[in-house]
Amino acid sequence: MGMRNTNALTPRDIGLILSYRCQANCAHCIYNCGKSYHDWMTPEEVRLALLQARAVWGRGFQVHLTGGEPFLNFPLLLESTKIAVELGIPVYLETNVGWCDDLDRAEDRFRQLREAGLGMVLVSVSPFHQEYIPLRRTLDGISAARAAFGKANVFVYQSEWLPEMAKWDQHETVSLEQYEAAYGREQAGLRFWMGFGVVSGGRAGYRLGGQIPKKAAEAFSGEDCADEMLYAQHSHMDVYGNFIPSSCAGIRLGSWRELDAVVAQYRQGKFHPLVALLIDKGPFGLYQWAMAEYDYHPLDGGYAGKCHLCVDVRRHLVAVGIDQDILAPQAFYEAF
Ligand code: SF4
Ligand code: SF4
Repeated sequence: MGMRNTNALTPRDIGLILSYRCQANCAHCIYNCGKSYHDWMTPEEVRLALLQARAVWGRGFQVHLTGGEPFLNFPLLLESTKIAVELGIPVYLETNVGWCDDLDRAEDRFRQLREAGLGMVLVSVSPFHQEYIPLRRTLDGISAARAAFGKANVFVYQSEWLPEMAKWDQHETVSLEQYEAAYGREQAGLRFWMGFGVVSGGRAGYRLGGQIPKKAAEAFSGEDCADEMLYAQHSHMDVYGNFIPSSCAGIRLGSWRELDAVVAQYRQGKFHPLVALLIDKGPFGLYQWAMAEYDYHPLDGGYAGKCHLCVDVRRHLVAVGIDQDILAPQAFYEAF
C-alpha cells in the first residue's frame, strides 16, 4: 500500500487477555478459549503492556481485563486492576461468573476489586454460556457484582436473553440442541446469529454454521477488512505478547512489547503482506492466494460468514506449516 494512515491503530478500548483459559468452551467463542490453556500473564507483563499502551496512546483509552475467564486467577486480576489504577487508566472487567458457587466469596472478590478502583463489571450472558454455566450461578454472580458495584456499574451483556434462559432448570446447564428442539433449528439459528450477533470467527463458524444457510467463498469477494485491521475501536493484547486488531482472533499485527514500532509501521502504511491482502481484498483475497500457492480447498458446504472463511484459510496455512508471523497464537489453531 505505502499510503500513510495517521489515524491507524488508535483503539479506545484495549482488552488484556490475561489468559485464554476458561472453564467454559462456548460454541460462539471467537478466541477459542477453554480448559486446554494454562498460561497467564504475569503482573510485570500487565504493567509492561499498559505502559506500552500509555506511551503510544496517551490517555485516550480504557482497558478491560478479560480472558478466557479472568477470575480463574483472582490474585492476578486484583493485581492487574491495581496496576491500571496506579497508571491512571480507567479499567473494567469481563466475566462469565461461572466460578460463582459461593455468594459470600463472590461478593468479597467484587468488593476487593471495587476498593482497588475497578470501574465496572461486564457479565456475559447467553444460551452459549448456559451450555456450561447453570443460570443460577449467572444470577448469583450478577447479584454479587451489583452488591459491590451498584446496579449502574454492572453491565449484563446480553441481558435480554435472561427471560429465555429462565425457562429452563436454573441449576442445570442447557445444551444448544435443547434450544434448537424448543425453537426449531431455523428459528434458533436466526435468534442466535441475528439476535445475538454471532461473529463467525474462531470456532463459531464450525459449531454454529449448521444453523444458517452458508455461502460459497465468492459471496465474500469485495468485503475488505480495512476497518477491522486499521481502524478498530476495540483491540486486544494477549498473554503471548500478541497485539490483535478488532475481533480478529488468531491474527497478530505484531508484538505489544514493541507496540510503538508496530503502530509507527502501520501508520506509515507498511503492512505484513498477508495483512495488506486482508486490508485490500478481505478473506476472499486470502482464499485466492492460498488456493493458488498452498493448495487450499474450499470447505464443503461453504462458510457461515467472512470471518469463518478467513479462519478456515488460516487454519490451512498453519496446518501446512507456513511460517507466517501474523498467524498467532499457535494455541488458537489447536483449540477448535
Ligand atoms: S465466550 Fe467467554 S465464557 Fe465462553 S469460552 Fe469464550 S471466554 Fe469463555
Ligand atoms: S475476515 Fe479475518 S481479517 Fe477480516 S474481520 Fe474477520 S477475522 Fe478479521
